[in-house]
Amino acid sequence: MDDFKTIIEPFRIKMVESIRMTNKEERIEYLKDAHFNPFLLDSEKVMIDLLTDSGTSAMSANQWAGIMQGDESYAGAKSWIKMRKVISDLTGFEFILPTHQGRAAERILYGYLGGKGKVFISNTHFDTTRANIEFSGAEAFDIPIKESEDPALYYPFKGNIDTLKLEQLIAEKGAEKISAVILTVTNNSGGGQPVSMANAISTSEICKKHKINFILDCCRIAENAYFIKHREKEFAHLTYKEIAQMMFSLTDGAIMSAKKDALVNMGGFLALKEEKLANECKNLLIITEGFATYGGLSGRDMEAIAIGLEEVFEADYLNYRIKSTSFLGEKLKELGVPLIYPIGGHAVYIDAKALYSHIPVDEYPGQALVCELYIMGGIRSVEIGSVMFGKYDENGKLIAAPKELVRLALPRRVYTQSQIEYVLEVFERILEHKSEVKGMKIIEEPLFLRHFTCKFERTN
Ligand SMILES: *Cc1c(COP(=O)(O)O)cnc(C)c1O
Repeated sequence: MDDFKTIIEPFRIKMVESIRMTNKEERIEYLKDAHFNPFLLDSEKVMIDLLTDSGTSAMSANQWAGIMQGDESYAGAKSWIKMRKVISDLTGFEFILPTHQGRAAERILYGYLGGKGKVFISNTHFDTTRANIEFSGAEAFDIPIKESEDPALYYPFKGNIDTLKLEQLIAEKGAEKISAVILTVTNNSGGGQPVSMANAISTSEICKKHKINFILDCCRIAENAYFIKHREKEFAHLTYKEIAQMMFSLTDGAIMSAKKDALVNMGGFLALKEEKLANECKNLLIITEGFATYGGLSGRDMEAIAIGLEEVFEADYLNYRIKSTSFLGEKLKELGVPLIYPIGGHAVYIDAKALYSHIPVDEYPGQALVCELYIMGGIRSVEIGSVMFGKYDENGKLIAAPKELVRLALPRRVYTQSQIEYVLEVFERILEHKSEVKGMKIIEEPLFLRHFTCKFERTN
């Protein structure tokens, strides 16, 4: 490969979707109407939407062509056969269950394996994963490695699970109580940080020794494979797909939200090694999702997933994907924006507590930054801090989250380099005005998942 600095997008644009340009005065009004919570903004009032990488990918010409070929038969559709074959080939598992998104697969598998008295262990459970486990009555333990606690520390595989703690926790709880060990690749809640093959191998050995199910939450398995190839030299000779296949081969099953690395807007699946467990799950699938050959997806969705799962492993795509995420992160770092380092695969996480050190945590520095990004540049991002995870003590005082982060998630194949350069320019302005920014207070909130709907005001 040539060594030019500019990462050109390995695609050309065939179809465009216009962005409505707005100015600062308009955005101040829009944000006020949305009670300073960008989740309450209409998308057409946003210029660059970095709220999530989930379901926001741009599909390829091949995927759109596949959509026209979708077989909408209730049972045994051609599109299902094609999707099953692609997933079986990738995962090595025989039993594939389609679902409408990742959390449906989670509810089926973890609902079946879980229940009161049961335990799940993960590098970090994603929020829907934890919610499904806890809803079943079981407990979920996160044991990421200690290097993950220090935001600025360079470590190549900050998404790893702590295998020493894993052994201890198994000894403490008893292997028979443990429903599954779940490895999330990349570790989404931990900053999109990758998990090494060596870590997956050790985890697999521990699970085998104790006869515990080992499940891969593989939403971003292609992005994770990129980091393994470039940071773990024993695996550098393998293709990205071979690396992913090797990782699947260590496990007993996998859950995927196809809204991430399958490059589609909706879909998911559950893939399992063992027939007995697969049959139990299939019964649950039929009751709540749909028949076993569509599981809540239309034929055209399944076509697009089958094609996306192949495209995501293309070397030029992955190279562009990971380099463009790190381009944004590295440039922000050069500007002096504090962030989680190294940069993960799908997003950049800003340390808002360090950026706005004059705003106390109970005035939500992360939410203040989210609002500034919108007002200054029409950029939508999300707070991952005390608005999302904060709790109250018995006196109604905030128990803050460990970190006050703002996530800039990059939709796949959607924004160009000049749009990202615009984001950088907005940050220059944010830095110039940082001492003028005020904190926020919550004036209305629901009991659960408050970040989606709560309302704010500025403090004085
Ligand atoms: C998105 C996600 C899920 C849930 O998938 P949905 O399709 O949103 O239901 C589960 N695990 C991880 C790691 C995710 O990123």
